Amino acid sequence: MENEKKKDTFPRIQASASSLRTSNPIREVVDRIDTSQMNKNKPMIPLSIGDPTVFGNLNACEEAIQAVVEVTKSCQANGYPKAVGMVEARSAVAQEFSTCHCPLTAADVILTSGCSHALQLCLEVLLEPGKNVLIPNPGFPLYKTICDYIGAEARSYALLPEKEWQIDLEHLRSLIDSSTKAILINNPSNPCGAVYPESHLKEILEIAQVAKLPIIADEIYHQIVFPGNESIPIASLSQVVPVLSVGGLAKRFLVPGWRLGWIIIHDRHNALAQVREGLERLSTLIMGANSLVQAALPNIMKNVSNSWHLSVLRSLHMQANYSYERLSHMIGLEPVMPQGSMYIMVGIQVTKFVDIESDIDFSQKLLNEESVFVLPGQCFGAKNYFRIVFCAPMDKLAEAYNRMSEFCTRHVRTVQ
Ligand SMILES: *Cc1c(COP(=O)(O)O)cnc(C)c1O
Repeated sequence: MENEKKKDTFPRIQASASSLRTSNPIREVVDRIDTSQMNKNKPMIPLSIGDPTVFGNLNACEEAIQAVVEVTKSCQANGYPKAVGMVEARSAVAQEFSTCHCPLTAADVILTSGCSHALQLCLEVLLEPGKNVLIPNPGFPLYKTICDYIGAEARSYALLPEKEWQIDLEHLRSLIDSSTKAILINNPSNPCGAVYPESHLKEILEIAQVAKLPIIADEIYHQIVFPGNESIPIASLSQVVPVLSVGGLAKRFLVPGWRLGWIIIHDRHNALAQVREGLERLSTLIMGANSLVQAALPNIMKNVSNSWHLSVLRSLHMQANYSYERLSHMIGLEPVMPQGSMYIMVGIQVTKFVDIESDIDFSQKLLNEESVFVLPGQCFGAKNYFRIVFCAPMDKLAEAYNRMSEFCTRHVRTVQ
């Protein structure tokens, strides 16, 4: 009997160290939040997830859907595309992002499975254990997750809330050492909603040029900027500094699930020749992006009208303004008005509250009492802030802010 049992058991199989050190900070913080005590009398309003499709008010453009339907029915795009992507689709991206100073061709574009995959390829091609990349703080958590997986160091430079979340350039400069391989910037940014003006982008380029470092530019929110701000790809401002710009359809076309992203290689005097080869080699690991969306891409870019993009932008701008207006009237909260993207960061003045000790505490109690879910700033490396995704329809936002306002009033310290 004993022996038989032994025969059936199997030794525990070990997972690799690199897999086990891979962790998503959002998941880690969110998993610590207890949803069991949520107020069941109030329907949940999740302002936490960076996915514009959650509420159903922001939908993909009909022309984009039609483009995918057509290529699907044609049965012409069911096979393996080249690992770097279909040439027509790469051309469409090249055309979209070419400027007269920086002309691009299909050879400068690699299509990827979402912008996340593009980021992974860029970090993998430049980094290895012992090397580091400079990343923004507060910032999108995936940058560090990928670096942890590679075994490289993600070194955080500070963004300044009082300067509309521009980079603390002195701090950035001070972090560079002989093991630094790249500067990663995110503009327009998640979670801050910052949009950098030309002068600031030039300051960043200057630092990269002096340090002889390439820039990885996460520009997935390109053109999601509010009136008065200009969306400038950083590569368009330098003839000298090599840039890997990453983007995709997810946010601007409101289709994150379609998983189509890209890397645009802005080479300068062949500085990136070997990197280009490395990226092409890495792209063969998963053979690139979904063939149907790739095949539809030229028509998606051609047929989705500017007026559709503008109407999405008008909604987002209205939601941003409304969010800022409501939040700035709540005691104990300090929102920072975003200049673009889909997010607003809100400072929590913990000393003004009786029983709120941190951003995690704030999110937990707001969820328990009001069923409104916001992500604690610690998910992004920003203590005592929380992030709101303002994609929800206006009535949902209004309800969420009514509840949040009551919550703040209830917890605030009353001064005698
Ligand atoms: C959403 C997001 C991404 C990932 O985009 P996918 O195409 O869905 O992989 C990358 N960077 C930032 C800053 C984002 O907010």
